[in-house]
Amino acid sequence: MDSNIHRHITGDQDHVPGFGADEWSIRRANVAVGRVVGELVRTTLGPRGMDKLLIDDTGMGIVTNNGASILREMVDNPVADMITDLAVKQEDDVQDGTTTAAVLAGELLGEAEHLLDRGVHPTTIANGYLTAAERAVEGFRRRSIAIEATDAERLVQIARTAMAGKSINADANIPVLVVEAVQSVADGEGSVEDDVAVEKVTGGRVTQSHLTSGVVLGKERADASVPYRVEDANVAVVDKSIEVRDLDGDSAVTLSAPTSVDRVFDGARSQAIALVDHLDDIGVDAVICGGNIDQIPRSLVAERGMYAARRVDDDELRLLARATGANIAAESRELTPDDLGHAEVIEETDVGGERKTIADGCAAGETATLVLYGTTIDVVDEVHRAVKDALSVVALAIREQRVIPGGGASETAAALDLREYATEYDTREQLAIEGFANALETIPRTLAENAGIDPIDGLVEVRAAQSSDTSTAGIDGETGEVVDALEAGIVEPLSVKSRSASAAAEAAVRILKIDDALPKRSEFDDEEDGGAMPGGMGGPGASASGMDAQ
Ligand code: ADP
Ligand code: MG
Repeated sequence: MDSNIHRHITGDQDHVPGFGADEWSIRRANVAVGRVVGELVRTTLGPRGMDKLLIDDTGMGIVTNNGASILREMVDNPVADMITDLAVKQEDDVQDGTTTAAVLAGELLGEAEHLLDRGVHPTTIANGYLTAAERAVEGFRRRSIAIEATDAERLVQIARTAMAGKSINADANIPVLVVEAVQSVADGEGSVEDDVAVEKVTGGRVTQSHLTSGVVLGKERADASVPYRVEDANVAVVDKSIEVRDLDGDSAVTLSAPTSVDRVFDGARSQAIALVDHLDDIGVDAVICGGNIDQIPRSLVAERGMYAARRVDDDELRLLARATGANIAAESRELTPDDLGHAEVIEETDVGGERKTIADGCAAGETATLVLYGTTIDVVDEVHRAVKDALSVVALAIREQRVIPGGGASETAAALDLREYATEYDTREQLAIEGFANALETIPRTLAENAGIDPIDGLVEVRAAQSSDTSTAGIDGETGEVVDALEAGIVEPLSVKSRSASAAAEAAVRILKIDDALPKRSEFDDEEDGGAMPGGMGGPGASASGMDAQ
């Protein structure tokens, strides 16, 4: 436990009978930290959310408004780490909704502070939150709408919603390219992450970005004597260096004494000839290599009219292999005709002022490359981050085929429903369920606020517009106006919303249940699984905590 926070919070000695003062203050401190972390990321929510400049340990700065990145870089406290883990996990699982999850968790803890003040027991709060989360998730599912995997218009809206505010100078066309890329590989076996490559090019305008079915390799041809272009090409993909050894078996050819030059050279040369003969025999037209290609085999390959590129990135090699149907070989000597892939054209060409190799008309087909242009590397990187998220979110939408209105519409509807549902409880859990509803409404409130609209006015207007359970009124985070989110095309995959609500509830509950100074991180990780219910992760103090009281 951070001693500062501890000192700060122990100033407040109000506590509920049945709690030790220490346990009480520890819980209060934890809850306060969680709330503050939520507030920290709140300003980044939505398309008008502010970017934060983060400086990492090495002094490098990145600009981002990704909730998970912010938390990862900024906060160093065990409770804050729990919220960070929540955001990181959300990002790993569904690639979006990280800020929402962190904001919700923070708000739930803020609500919990009020409830604790009013003497509501933490277990009651926890149970109320879990009940409410379940109910909210059910409501999300009920209000979600089915889409077709081929519904390009909806998918583009999903991509656009996922990218909004995330990229400087985002061009309207990039969400379209994202959807085309995902659709072009959707029938394949691999994941979108494996099959869609992004090639970053600086020095152009974002609007020059385009999609190609070919594979772009970041390297020029291996040697000036290699032809610029081969057609109808059988492609050998090799991941180790293509080297010839001297007679002693040492790896490079080193010429130590003048007398041995010819001997060594002849040895290396005859090895290289044997190797290139083999490539020729099995019909290779292009050799794409992850390592180096020694000088001698390089010129021999060129003499035979084969294309060659070396030191190609692993990711690009893998993609090329998938695209052309090649098997990646470690040793070029062991290549068989079955290992070769095929492309209509392999050529060196200019991509944004750099010489690169492009394989086009690839036989196996199910890959795509998004060539992203931007004026500077920072711009391209920022667009790239947004594109990566959008690719995964669109793939998710195609898999689950259910979308839900964004802009706080779904959260507001769930909050309305929860307030009504809460009245069915005649216990204090009712207050916790209402607290959950309040937390959900932070989403529309904050979207309005970040768009420069009075948050209370925004929330009140959305509530008023949500006259029925099926209403989809929300805040357009670009303008702050109340709109029909479905009509405005502010839509998200169902599970992004569901996950952020249920994960936030779980994180808040965990934090609420800590009633002892947090153990060190490693111990904590071990205990995590057993810690969900009363007594939870408390360690030695847990049994005396009275957590099972109502
Ligand atoms: P998260 O990390 O939670 O995805 P974002 O900063 O990406 O956070 O904000 C996403 C929220 O912004 C979602 O609730 C989304 O529905 C909402 N939103 C509101 N208006 C828009 C809009 N015009 N375009 C995109 N998202 C919007
Ligand atoms: Mg987002």
